[in-house]
Order: sequence, then C-alpha cells, then structure tokens
Amino acid sequence: MTAALAAAHHGLSAVVIEREKVYGGSTARSGGGLWLPGPEASTYLKHVAGDEVAPARRDALLAYGPEVLAFVERHTPLEFARVPGYPDYHPEAPGGLAEGRTVEPRPLDVRRIGVDRETLAPPYRAAPNGMAVTAVDYRWLSLGMRHPRSALTAVRLAASRFRGHRLTMGQALAAGLRAGLRRAGVPVLLDTPMTGLDVGEGRVAAVRSGGRTWRARRGVILASGGFERNEGMRREHQDLGTEWTVGAPGNTGDGIRMGRELGAALDLMDEAWWGPSLPLTGGPYFCLAERNLPGSLMVDGSGRRFVNESAPYVDVVHVMLGRRTGTPHLPSWLITDRTYRDRYLFAGRAPRTPLPRRWFDAGVAHRADTVAGLAASIGVPPEELRRTVDRFNGFAASGRDDDFGRGDSAYDRYYGDPRQRPNPCLGPLSKPPFHAFALVPGDLGTKGGLRTDERARVLRPDGAPVPGLYAAGNTSASVMGRGYAGAGATLGPAMTFGYLAALDLAE
Ligand SMILES: Cc1cc2nc3c(=O)[nH]c(=O)nc-3n(C[C@H](O)[C@H](O)[C@H](O)COP(=O)(O)OP(=O)(O)OC[C@H]3O[C@@H](n4cnc5c(N)ncnc54)[C@H](O)[C@@H]3O)c2cc1C
Repeated sequence: MTAALAAAHHGLSAVVIEREKVYGGSTARSGGGLWLPGPEASTYLKHVAGDEVAPARRDALLAYGPEVLAFVERHTPLEFARVPGYPDYHPEAPGGLAEGRTVEPRPLDVRRIGVDRETLAPPYRAAPNGMAVTAVDYRWLSLGMRHPRSALTAVRLAASRFRGHRLTMGQALAAGLRAGLRRAGVPVLLDTPMTGLDVGEGRVAAVRSGGRTWRARRGVILASGGFERNEGMRREHQDLGTEWTVGAPGNTGDGIRMGRELGAALDLMDEAWWGPSLPLTGGPYFCLAERNLPGSLMVDGSGRRFVNESAPYVDVVHVMLGRRTGTPHLPSWLITDRTYRDRYLFAGRAPRTPLPRRWFDAGVAHRADTVAGLAASIGVPPEELRRTVDRFNGFAASGRDDDFGRGDSAYDRYYGDPRQRPNPCLGPLSKPPFHAFALVPGDLGTKGGLRTDERARVLRPDGAPVPGLYAAGNTSASVMGRGYAGAGATLGPAMTFGYLAALDLAE
C-alpha cells in the first residue's frame, strides 16, 4: 500500500490487488510499530544485519526511512508517535539505543476511513470491549496492577471507549494507508489473487488473476507477504510446518514462487520473524512480556535452563532450534509460580483468573503443587528441575543471572516488573501451585525471499535485475538479515522498500 501510494503521488497509475476479501494482511494483525531511524543508526544496523545484507540496502533504509514516515503522514490520516523507552533489541551493541527508536500510529478514529472499515482484516487479538490499546499501553497492562501506570492505563482505556471507536497498532496502520489510497484514487481490488506474471519485450509486463490481466506499463511490485502459510515451502526450507505462525492466512509465498520462476535468487529462506509461542487450542499465542516477568524461567526436556528467557524473541527461537550450536532445545517449557500468576497478565488472561481447562486437557498447560510433581507431569527429571529452580532462586535473590545474564540488557528490563528488586526480570519461583506451559518456535511470518537491491529491484543470482520486477516486505529477503533491530524492524523496511520501488518506477 505504501508503494502504491508513492507511485500515485509520483504521477503513476497504480492498482493494488489482494487475494483475500479483506485488506491488510499481517500488517493489520500486527503491533504496527515502525523502526525507521536515520543514518545515525548505521553502526547499529550493520551489527544487527551482519554480512549477509548488502551495505547499500542498509544505507537505503536509513537514508529514506524518515522520508517515508513524513510522506505517509502527509498523504494519509496517520500520525506517528514515539514509543517511549522501548529499547532497540540490542541496546548495548555498538550504536544501540536504550531509549529506542520505535514509533507507532496514534489511535485513528474509525470515521476517518469510512466504508473501508468493513473490509479491514481483523487484528491478531482484539482488545476487550473495543478498547484502543497501543503498544505503549500493552507494556503497562502486562503488569496487572503492579504499577500505578498499569492502573491508570486500565482506567484510561476503559474511559476511552466513550470517545468513539478508534483503531490502534496494525489496524490503524493498514486502515490509514488504505484511506490514503482512496484519497489518491488508487483502486484496491479484493478477492483478486495474483495467479501469474507475464513477460513481454524482455520485462515483466503484466499480472494475471484467473482470467483477468493487468498490463504494467512500468512494472510490478510484489508485496504479497512471506510463505508462513505454505506447508510445502516451510518443510522444504525450514523443516517446520505452518501450525505455529500468527502471520496472515493469505501469505502462501506466491510472490516468492513467481519471482523464482522468473529466475530470481532467494536468500534467508530458513529464517522467520521467530518468537516463542504457546500452542494454545485456538491457535498460537506469541509471547512478549510473559518471558520477561519475574517468577518465570524456561527449561528444555533435560529440566535445565538453556537461554536468557527475556532476550529478543528471534534470538530465543534461534537457541530453541539450535541454529548456531546444532543442539535444539525442544520441547521447551515456561515454568512459573503462583506469585507470577497472581500478579501479571498471562496470554491476555487477567491475573488471578482461572486458566482455561482446555489448555490443561491439550497438554499445553500443567499445574502441580510441587516442583517435582510438575516435572513428572511434563516428563523432565524432577531432581534436575528442582536444582534449576533452586539455582535460579539464588539469582533472583542476588539480582544477577550468572548463567545467562537475564535482566542485564535494557531490552530484557523493558517488559520486566519495575517493582521487582534488585532485578526486574528475576523473581523466585517459590509459591505453589507451579505451572508449566509448552513453548514452541512460532513466528510473525517468514523473512526470507527474493533477493533485491537498494532500489527494491528483484535480482538474479548473477546480480542482474529481473526487468520490471520489484519486491518489498516479506516477499523479499529481509534487510535485517538474521537479526531484528527493534520493534518495527519488519514493517519499517517493508514500507521503505515499497516506497523506493515506486520512486524507481517513477524515474
Ligand atoms: C501479531 C503480529 C504482531 C506484529 N507486530 C509487528 C510490529 O509491531 N512491527 C513490525 O515491524 N512487524 C510486526 N509484525 C510483523 C509484520 O506484521 C509483518 O512482517 C508485515 O506485516 C509483513 O508485511 P508484508 O507487506 O510483507 O505482508 P502482509 O502485510 O502480510 O501483506 C501481504 C498481503 O498479500 C496478500 N497476498 C498473498 N498472496 C497474494 C496473491 N497471490 N495475490 C494477491 N494478494 C496476495 C495477502 O493476503 C496479504 O494481505 C507483527 C506480525 C504479527 C502477526
């Protein structure tokens, strides 16, 4: 949508085609955070993205990101605000910032989008009673009633219902972009799957959808998301299936497949925007604050910890999958005690409220009055789990995790409990009953795809562009490489490279 908006405002005639009956894809499901700093983030991005990403692409992201934000604010009803204190995901790395760089959409009055509210794709999880919850709010809500800001946030949100229906996070982002397209006269055709690309006179010249064809005078920008919902592609490239993704249902890798058929190179196909997730009966739940809050730890089948639980979600799953060491840590369990359950929101469930029976029936959740009983229930050696908990409780008392450094990073602490001393991420597991929750390597979508250059042109293995073909978002291999710079590091680049593709077409 950003690409089409930029194309329209640069004098081109654009059309967006969308296979679903609703628009917005994963973007509408998302938190809507955008990581779009300027060139001052160069050292940091180089550190995060690593050597697999061409420096010219990193530079292009940083050179144009702020311009994209300003462009979108100018041509849509969207306004963006800083998410205060949400750190870069590696704030202690060279150039990283503990105060963060993420922005998010301000709540958007649904009346600003008119009829397009009817066809907006649903959020991943709707806030109760239509409350307008932002990313900033989520942080405080996760703390239950532990902090004055938590209570204030809950009261303000409850009252905000009387201010009319407002969209937040990815709902606001997708709807705001759609509104900008309507203003610019760009059609968005729903229920219109791209089924093929036609080549003519040596370049990509048309898009097919069933029997219909759109001739592309300048070119085609593929922005059809990743392949998180394509079982065959996931098995081929990742040795995993589709059941643990929270990406949009329509993201079956069509753009990647069609680009490959035209000779494009693929990169990072074994990667995803991973995150430890609860395989709940109604679908996976992507854990954010749940791993950072005190009174919780993670173990594998040996009953031992294996990771800094509070590390950024992509990094935790890299360890779960054994990507660097060759030793996976699956199954994984999140172990918690009663204090944790009494204090904090858990997977959207208010503190102290009973957890659904079906979670226990499905084996996703286990409960026991002793650590040994819990170990027996999940099939890990009881004496090992006991040792792990005892050692961890020592760390909680001293405030130092000597094994994995949990709470050392400002990122870990962001979702910790500020009232927990001395370390906001470390609290003892001492009060029964204890819980264990299964954790699986889930994802927000895949991040490998078509190789592109700094103008978002799709490239062949020899580095030559496929004439007339561009890609942005998860259809392209990410400018973040195997890393994740900060909240918004998928959507910020997706919008920027869509914008750059349109500029290139306009030129
Ligand atoms: C719960 C959740 C929270 C997230 N939070 C954030 C966040 O705060 N910040 C961030 O940066 N990222 C976040 N992400 C990740 C981010 O949402 C995605 O990486 C991003 O939306 C991908 O954008 P995209 O344009 O590539 O794909 P999408 O937004 O998924 O759009 C792709 C569209 O293409 C359509 N399509 C697919 N195939 C075809 C076809 N053949 N023909 C026509 N249309 C087709 C799909 O139906 C879809 O609508 C989150 C994701 C989720 C699920």
